[in-house]
Amino acid sequence: MDYPRQYHDSLHNSGSYWLQQAENISWYKRPSIGLRNDSDNNYSWFDDGQLNTCYLAVDRHVEQGRGEHVAFYYDSPAAGVKQKISYLQLQEQVSVFAGAMLEMGVSKGDRVIIYMPMIPQAAVAMLACARIGAVHSVVFGGFAANELAVRIDDAQAKLIVTASCGIEFEKVIAYKPLVDKAISLAEHKPKKTVVMQREMLPATLDDVGDVSWEEFVRNGEATPCVVMDSNDPLYILYTSGTTGKPKGIVRDNGGHAVALKLAFNGIYGMGENDVWWAASDIGWVVGHSFIVYGPLICGASSVFYEGKPIRSPDAGAFWRVISEYKVNSMMCAPTAFRAIRKEDSQGSLVAKYDLKSLRWVFVAGEKLDSSTYQWLKDILQVPILDHWWQTETGWPMTSPMMGWDNPCAARLGSTNKCTPGYDIRVLSEEGAEVGSNQVGNICLKLPLPPGVSTSIWNQPERYKQAYLAAFNGYYHTGDGGYKDEDGYIYITGRTDDVINVSGHRLSTGEMEEVVSSHSDIAECAVIAVNCSLKGQIPIGLVVLKTDANISDNQLQTELVAKVRAQIGALACFKDVFVVQRLPKTRSGKILRAVLRKIAAHQPYQIPATIDDPAILEEIEVLLTQYYTR
Ligand code: AMP
Repeated sequence: MDYPRQYHDSLHNSGSYWLQQAENISWYKRPSIGLRNDSDNNYSWFDDGQLNTCYLAVDRHVEQGRGEHVAFYYDSPAAGVKQKISYLQLQEQVSVFAGAMLEMGVSKGDRVIIYMPMIPQAAVAMLACARIGAVHSVVFGGFAANELAVRIDDAQAKLIVTASCGIEFEKVIAYKPLVDKAISLAEHKPKKTVVMQREMLPATLDDVGDVSWEEFVRNGEATPCVVMDSNDPLYILYTSGTTGKPKGIVRDNGGHAVALKLAFNGIYGMGENDVWWAASDIGWVVGHSFIVYGPLICGASSVFYEGKPIRSPDAGAFWRVISEYKVNSMMCAPTAFRAIRKEDSQGSLVAKYDLKSLRWVFVAGEKLDSSTYQWLKDILQVPILDHWWQTETGWPMTSPMMGWDNPCAARLGSTNKCTPGYDIRVLSEEGAEVGSNQVGNICLKLPLPPGVSTSIWNQPERYKQAYLAAFNGYYHTGDGGYKDEDGYIYITGRTDDVINVSGHRLSTGEMEEVVSSHSDIAECAVIAVNCSLKGQIPIGLVVLKTDANISDNQLQTELVAKVRAQIGALACFKDVFVVQRLPKTRSGKILRAVLRKIAAHQPYQIPATIDDPAILEEIEVLLTQYYTR
């Protein structure tokens, strides 16, 4: 397959191109329509197609005689467990769990929240929902009860599936009390909570709404896959926006399956006999697309890892996993490799393992800095491939196509060229396309390819507002960057108030809401500073109320605890600085874009509308002290 022709076809003969891609998966009813597009830029894919995503990911392989093939290699240094799960075993577990959900009254279209650590039952629950047409919403286990409550309310979940605990390094974290607290905070009350009991910390279950996983599946009869329309929702995944309220990204069935088939085979270059490892968590989009659905739809074996890159038990954990399962390719956020480099700067632990199986390594989620790139390339001696995507798209927008002939060579600093169906344009604030190598807003010309979300749960207008309103006819990614004269894309970072901590996307607006709810705070701004390990971390600039009577240390302790309790430890919010005032426009708006630039050590222009320019200097001094301390 050759990139220029395929890419051209994907944009200029898009309907027939994608109908052809749709031939690569099985349908109950094959779609006859590729793209439906009206003059208002409303579009959809495969409208009349019918299929079931769980069938594609599980049953189809069993039917084709590949039931004994390994679907998941579960490897948990955290729990000291290793397990191979075949497609046949997965089918048994999924169909029974699906049957149990039906029995308790979960039906097509109902929402199920999955709040679980990286244990295979999390994937079983996801696939079981897909099997009966229930819409799952996986919530990352690191989120605090308050965040879970917001999602329970927004999704109006009928059922919660959880585990008694998760494990972070050696620390066992009880999940059940968090879920109980979330339910008590939420206005909407789910009917039941299914709890996977883990032996290191079983949970106490109440008699009314709680049931253990074991007990729950006892009532389940193996149930077949239901027929879903291509555009029926498969899942909701909440992601941080620029406001306090997370956005429930909705994913369809048909477009998603077609896109993941193309991505897994074409982008990652993986086939059904390959072993693939996305070292992430099912709570993120990587986990959805490339721990669970993508590899399984393609019939490959996927590593399901519950552990960390370091102290699991050492910084050789990743290399051990690659050698033990003969991993052919993996994907991970650069932050994990920075953590490994910090512990084993020479990469000497690599020598302990046979990594011959590894063909290439993909990285995404945050900027790949050149020193991490070089270090990784030197120690692994395989291509290190940067690629770029986001929760909303569900699959990469720019990447080398490693499954195709002559994939575009990597260029340092670039996340490579557009993948099929993505027409990336770099626009000025006024919406005009800028020239090569000029920085602007990275946008996607509509229509977007299959698999990309076209809606926010319950709030279709918010989708338009958040993504389509800024530039007519384009999807606004929220990232800034440029395109070189050969079409390679370079991402420079977010242009909004979303920050990226260890590859996790977080909203500073959400943190500001928590910080400003402290009784001594008059106003605040949370901004990101650069961090050599985590990419970015948030800090708070706060203005105290005039009658506040609290020491800076005490205030910091209280605010850090508040953010941890209400958002979660993953926010890494640790530093608070008291300032006399915040930089504002004369109309009273905090100059966040300027603050972002100061914090990132980037040049900035003092806006003409600024009320008091002196404050910018004060903040610059403060941040310089922060970086040099
Ligand atoms: P998420 O939706 O959590 O996957 O975060 C998506 C955001 O992460 C993007 O909008 C980018 O800001 C950032 N991102 C993802 N991949 C890359 C990459 N390869 N290089 C730079 N930033 C990236």
